[in-house]
Amino acid sequence: MELDSPVTDLKGVGDELAKKLAIVGVKTVGDLVENFPRRYEDYSKVVPIKDLRPGVVTIEAKISSASGRYVRRGMHITEAIASDETASVRLVWFNQPYRAAAIKAGQDYYIAGEYALRRSRFSIANPSVELVSDFPVNTARIVPVYRETKGLKSNQIRRLLREAIINAKNLPEHLPKWLIVAQKLTDYTSAVTEIHFPSSAKSLESAKKRLAFEEVFELTLAALLNKQDVAHEKGLKIAFKEQLARDFVARLPFKLTSAQRKAVWQIYQDMAKSQPMNRLLEGDVGSGKTVVAAMVAVMAIEQGFQAALMAPTEILARQHAETLLNLLSNVGYGEQVGLLLGSLNLAQKRLAQQKVADGSIKLIVGTHALIAEKVDMHKLGLIIIDEQHRFGVGQRKKLQAKAGHMPHVLHMTATPIPRSLALTLYGELDISILDELPPGRQDIKTKICSPNSRTELYKQIDKELATGRQMFVVCPLIIDSETSQGLSVEEVHRQLSEHDFKHRKVALLHGKMKSMDKEKVVADFLAKKYDILVSTTVIEVGVDVPNASIMLIMGAERFGLAQIHQLRGRVGRGAHQSYCFLMLSDSKAPLQRLRALENTTDGFKLAELDLNLRGPGAIYGTLQHGALDLRIAKLTDIQLIASARAAAQTFIDKNEKLNKYPHLDARISALRAVTNLN
Ligand code: ADP
Ligand code: MG
Repeated sequence: MELDSPVTDLKGVGDELAKKLAIVGVKTVGDLVENFPRRYEDYSKVVPIKDLRPGVVTIEAKISSASGRYVRRGMHITEAIASDETASVRLVWFNQPYRAAAIKAGQDYYIAGEYALRRSRFSIANPSVELVSDFPVNTARIVPVYRETKGLKSNQIRRLLREAIINAKNLPEHLPKWLIVAQKLTDYTSAVTEIHFPSSAKSLESAKKRLAFEEVFELTLAALLNKQDVAHEKGLKIAFKEQLARDFVARLPFKLTSAQRKAVWQIYQDMAKSQPMNRLLEGDVGSGKTVVAAMVAVMAIEQGFQAALMAPTEILARQHAETLLNLLSNVGYGEQVGLLLGSLNLAQKRLAQQKVADGSIKLIVGTHALIAEKVDMHKLGLIIIDEQHRFGVGQRKKLQAKAGHMPHVLHMTATPIPRSLALTLYGELDISILDELPPGRQDIKTKICSPNSRTELYKQIDKELATGRQMFVVCPLIIDSETSQGLSVEEVHRQLSEHDFKHRKVALLHGKMKSMDKEKVVADFLAKKYDILVSTTVIEVGVDVPNASIMLIMGAERFGLAQIHQLRGRVGRGAHQSYCFLMLSDSKAPLQRLRALENTTDGFKLAELDLNLRGPGAIYGTLQHGALDLRIAKLTDIQLIASARAAAQTFIDKNEKLNKYPHLDARISALRAVTNLN
């Protein structure tokens, strides 16, 4: 049996079971082996019956007089007696009518379950039982618990895994020998055997360490190889023109922060090289990424190259175009800024396209329509992608293909990705971080609120609105579901516009609306035609309404810290003191986690906290990076990550050839396809 054999090669796996396994992502024997447990239950201690104490227990005993009956409609009970040399104990199963027939009298069983007092008698309820053997899987050991699905239970998965591990005895080692020796890693066969069926807590730790190491090593190696590839591509040199940079800065109404200066300088240096830049500019909301983008773009277009800026939404693209036009006008390039959106009419599109072709537009701003439209971009020297995680790999590839060569690429994101995570996920990118906000920003006052204090809060809010300010209300859902009433935009909009704020003008915005309608709502809100905008998280990215000073988040405990932080960034953009109210969905909702938002406005710190509290999934959620899922490694395990990353670099420095390690090669190829941002 090979790792790539289909699961149907395993005993007892028919089409039916194969379908269920496919639901949890298991198609091959290898998938099964790599389907790691979610957690474990410790049944390893086998005790004599006379020593039983209430709690989770395992015994070794013979079972007698098993019989089942219905005690009433819909309630079946199977009872049996288990005995060892020391004593007997009652076993009872509820609604498992097949149990009695499955038990063979006189055989030795391991029996595991909860020993407790029930109806004035001690018994073990719903125990797992299996015949005594050298390789028990459900009892008498540390037992793995898997992700289950309807009709696929952990005990089935355990049985299949035992068979897979016994039959595929020589699982291939994909890491190089020198690496295993140097890092004192458990070999692959032992590691996967132990991760499923640990022989001790200690060996489980070593197995996890090996698999975590391998995971980060592979991710990093994939990223480094991608980076190498980019380095071999030919790009266009965009020289650094000092005078232009000076002129640009001199005409800004403010001084650049030192973080901005450093980032701009790093980017200028990258662009002056003949190999294409591939850099990530990370900066919290409001850290001033747009100015950086403008300075970088002007350097390209001044030298006759085209530059493109892609934004995730039309609203954002318009705002960017406007800002860039202003900034570039300062140095005489305003007329070379153009906008291309899918929603423009044909004549407008034609005009934009023609202006790009004849060179009168050099900085073209748009959404992914830039890729779809027939725009002549053969002189494309620079691509700036705002909120890069919202673009798929395919889209990025297409944009590159349009240029016919590899342009310099600058990815910008406001998602504060902790450095450890960024380096692991995006190892092929160079990273610049704007870790400093422009001076003079006031802190947004943030407060957690219980629904009991709603009336009070609304009164306070109304006073602010009366002074001419505006409010965003963000809801976690579009339509109410049975379990979460009053949390949808529709319901909240109705509630606010018909009751709590019926004397105010209340608008509604959500992602299912037509793009044109959305834009109109935002434009009207910006023009103060509304006091309140009730929205889903579609406003998370980039909507800029300086007069809005209140952010009210409904069902706040449903959001990640980093996400709320981003939402909060929608206010505090003007001169007014701003507020963020985190409304819990009920007075019992957990709020401890949210406290951090009251205490800090550092997006990186909050993301780091999310990472620790909710795991990488929380960050992936905001990144929409589902394909890359760290299953074993914790990104908080700094030391392991550092050594795995170093090992990947060593692999490259040693000039190791991947094709020497076919299994590693296959895994790396799969990862490269996902992580490649180019
Ligand atoms: P983001 O990084 O979220 O895209 P923006 O580029 O939109 O941030 O900048 C937010 C605001 O800060 C803008 O109004 C911009 O003009 C202003 N700004 C940018 N850099 C500075 C600076 N160095 N000093 C003062 N204000 C700045
Ligand atoms: Mg921005």
